[in-house]
Amino acid sequence: MMQTPLSLNHFLARAKQYHGDVEIVTRMPDKSLHRQTYADFNRRALALAEVLVKAGIRPGDRVATLCWNHYAHLECYFGIPAAGAVMHNLNLRLFPHDIAFIVNHAKDRVLIVDDVLLPLLAQFAKDVKFERVIVVPLTGKPVNAGHEDYEALLKTATGDFQPVGVDENAPCGMCYTSGTTGSPKGVVYSHRSTVLHTLVAALPGTLSVSGTDTVLPVVPMFHANAWGLPYLATFVGAKLVLPGPHLDSDSLLELYQNERVTVTGGVPTIWLSLLQTLRANPGKYDLVPGMRMLVGGSAAPESLFRGFDEFGLVVGTAWGMTETSPLGTVSVLTPGMRALPQEEQYAFRVKQGMAAPLVDIRLVGEEGEVPWDGKSVGEIQVRGPWITGSYHELPRNESSFTADGWLRTGDVGCIDENGFLRLTDRTKDLIKSGGEWISSVDLENAVMGHPAVLEAAVIAVAHPRWAERPLAVIVLRPGMTATADDIRDHLAHTFAKWQLPEAYEFVTEIPRTSTGKFLKTRLRETYRDWKWD
Ligand code: ADP
Repeated sequence: MMQTPLSLNHFLARAKQYHGDVEIVTRMPDKSLHRQTYADFNRRALALAEVLVKAGIRPGDRVATLCWNHYAHLECYFGIPAAGAVMHNLNLRLFPHDIAFIVNHAKDRVLIVDDVLLPLLAQFAKDVKFERVIVVPLTGKPVNAGHEDYEALLKTATGDFQPVGVDENAPCGMCYTSGTTGSPKGVVYSHRSTVLHTLVAALPGTLSVSGTDTVLPVVPMFHANAWGLPYLATFVGAKLVLPGPHLDSDSLLELYQNERVTVTGGVPTIWLSLLQTLRANPGKYDLVPGMRMLVGGSAAPESLFRGFDEFGLVVGTAWGMTETSPLGTVSVLTPGMRALPQEEQYAFRVKQGMAAPLVDIRLVGEEGEVPWDGKSVGEIQVRGPWITGSYHELPRNESSFTADGWLRTGDVGCIDENGFLRLTDRTKDLIKSGGEWISSVDLENAVMGHPAVLEAAVIAVAHPRWAERPLAVIVLRPGMTATADDIRDHLAHTFAKWQLPEAYEFVTEIPRTSTGKFLKTRLRETYRDWKWD
């Protein structure tokens, strides 16, 4: 057989050739709708590639984006790789200091940024050095001197440009993920890994997306590639609806209704508030019956599945990580499970499901691999063609990768006889709030930086809206005092508001393991039923 390279450039060409008339709809900052077709997208993505090449961008160079979900970000998803370069999307929810670290670590040469996000850029601009800053004028306002206008720049392209061909193993994208300790770590995707991930994600046994679908990724395009949905929609020719910066339930429901959305994806926090809005407004929204709502990023409660069932909307779980592109497992019920009464199906629907085709999964406990009996618990390890084998410019480290070539996910769970994974715990010391990470260790170090604090541990506690919130357990120095407000003010200099602990507990002692580490399992147990205000 021939060895033709698996390349995103092929998706870009197909988009024009076979579904050039299909729409890409974006909700703009002023809430108006911007519409273009895949033919427009193809032309503009190639124009972007052309101007990047003219600007001296060479294969393998990183071009960063700081953007919401919209048409121009999609153009970056394909235009930057068509220049042979690597699209590096920056997570705009991170603290500016962390964004600067990531930009410098990745050595991003150029930045493409939404005009509405320029105030965020201003907070870290002095710590980074982009050769060029290209502004997407979403509001239509003129772009300030010192920056370039994305639209004006695209107009300088000749329109006669062939994508830069690169090896299928060449990088096309990059995302950073929060480290348990230390700095964020970069995951680099290749053309090959992204193409294979897309092919499998489209399958009926996985996400089952085709050209007859209309797809709305609520999950941000700066987080784990919006779970691959932008690549997937472009590949199959699904109409794509992008919510811009408007992620509130009313805006989303209006888009679902008016654009006849059939597939959407987001974290439990988004779906919980959407459910509340649906319940509060009976009969207000006329959605496509059976709209499929992919949930991931955090465990979704059974009540979420039941709640949407009442509205004829179908929630389905997937599990993955930035390191896994992200599709690792998906909970698609087997024919045997579907034959069960609906009540009994919930027990499977809430699980994380079975490994996607081409992904190998195993559970490893203290004594080696554990059996798939639905009870035995171990660390989840995976390997496959879209699972990262290393972090960008970091030595391979045995806390992340095993000697025999598996990714250690830091998630803990059990797998039943059907091969269905259920997550039960996490070894990584992180808190996932509203779909984004908070490092317990960073918070602890910062709390302990307060002069009145002797020691502090920060744990994740389940929260009805945000999935988890941080709770700080603090021992004060003898004879000293500090209030929760004092500690919060102290932290506010280094953490984004949403990352600050939600509650502060002052205690006389923090339980420790025999080796002197904080016994977080005991703390999690103690505060498990914490009542949030
Ligand atoms: P994403 O949020 O897209 O899944 P991240 O890399 O930020 O990507 O986070 C990955 C982690 O999120 C996983 O290791 C796991 O701890 C958690 N996670 C992802 N999906 C699920 C899920 N369906 N249920 C429970 N936890 C999940």
